[in-house]
Amino acid sequence: MQFLASDALRGRGSGTADELAAAKYIASQLHAYGVEPAGDDGGYVQQAAIVRRKFTAAPRLQMATSGPPGTTTATASWTYGTDFLTLQLTQFQFSGPLQKIEAGEQKAEIIPGAIVLVTGKDETRFEIRQKALSAQAEGAVAALVAFPDEPEVFTLDVELPKLPPELEGEPHRRMGGNVNLLELSVETTKALERLPEGTSLRFVGPTIAEKGNTWNAIGKLKGSDPKLRGSVVLFSAHLDHLGVGPPVDGDSIYNGADDDASGVTAVLELARVLAAGRRPRRTVLLAFFGSEEQGGLGSTFFTEHPPLPLANFALDLEFEMIGRPDPAVPGDDVWLTGWERSDLGPALKAHGAQVVPDPHLEQNFFARSDNYILAKKGVVAQTIGSYGLHSDYHQPSDDLAHIDFKHMDAVIGALIAPVEWLVNADFVPAWKKGEKP
Ligand SMILES: [Zn+2]
Repeated sequence: MQFLASDALRGRGSGTADELAAAKYIASQLHAYGVEPAGDDGGYVQQAAIVRRKFTAAPRLQMATSGPPGTTTATASWTYGTDFLTLQLTQFQFSGPLQKIEAGEQKAEIIPGAIVLVTGKDETRFEIRQKALSAQAEGAVAALVAFPDEPEVFTLDVELPKLPPELEGEPHRRMGGNVNLLELSVETTKALERLPEGTSLRFVGPTIAEKGNTWNAIGKLKGSDPKLRGSVVLFSAHLDHLGVGPPVDGDSIYNGADDDASGVTAVLELARVLAAGRRPRRTVLLAFFGSEEQGGLGSTFFTEHPPLPLANFALDLEFEMIGRPDPAVPGDDVWLTGWERSDLGPALKAHGAQVVPDPHLEQNFFARSDNYILAKKGVVAQTIGSYGLHSDYHQPSDDLAHIDFKHMDAVIGALIAPVEWLVNADFVPAWKKGEKP
């Protein structure tokens, strides 16, 4: 953990050479423990191609009306930087019919695929933004946010908007979905308010695409029992973090000690213990995913190119942020996301795990880590954590100085017996009725 979270790895930025160094380091540890490789070409590392798209000029929001058959002509156009800004952007182009809603409206039915204009008079910026996010969660492709007290036009000198990388051939983001939020100037808001509902809008801009890669590290312990080895137990964590970014108090390295060097350390330690003891009766996979921070790209690739058929996976237990105790749960307990969704949590508890239901349901952690990518593929996949919503989350100060190693030691130590039960049992957890995501 001291190596993974050290400044030498520069925060293990998603899809960077530092991420590859982390994957190679994990590979060398797995090799030293006697874990078999399950990555590409007889090695531990699995490489996935990604695409990084960059705008080369300011994108525009256009009103499109049909011209001659098969063509579309823009009849009004607003430009990024003066007429609107981007609060969040995951797609370089999108289009849809305009739908106008008020932030205070209780039961606005969002039209699937709409571009929603969200206005508000008495609502705060936060409330308007929340309404925009919920409209997207309900199926809008984008939200145009009109905050009160905006300037007539923006006069800031802003950089072109940034886009997250995509997995090559997989433009649909499986974790977090697509979120496109534009912030409008007063003039743009007025112009859009005058347009009739259903007016066809599109967002476009010139881009260049650069190819890159992200890396997973995967190891395997083949089960010793011919009757049980077809059943796969997966333990996972994400090896990437945010890399080098805007400095805070002079520190620009986002070390990601808790997020998620702590989870990687837990899975490595379980790997070491399981490889050193009597061979588990079931097959154990140990996966360390790249580019989780960019929407679960490594785990998405893993589910499309699994080293063993996904149908044989009994479960996935992901480890996230166990580096500090959570004051919301007793002592060194950990919580399990999606507790109410399956019978996995109660079974682990019955076998001695100090595990309780996730106390932060409003944070939707179940859908915020790699487990969700596996869960969407049908695998009972849940995350163990003890993140107490500390203020070092995604900051350069999530570093080794803030890790409680006594807590981590207690957490991992307490999980060894339940994990040894799990890898030797024939227990296969199941989703509760209607709880499979
Ligand atoms: Zn994380």
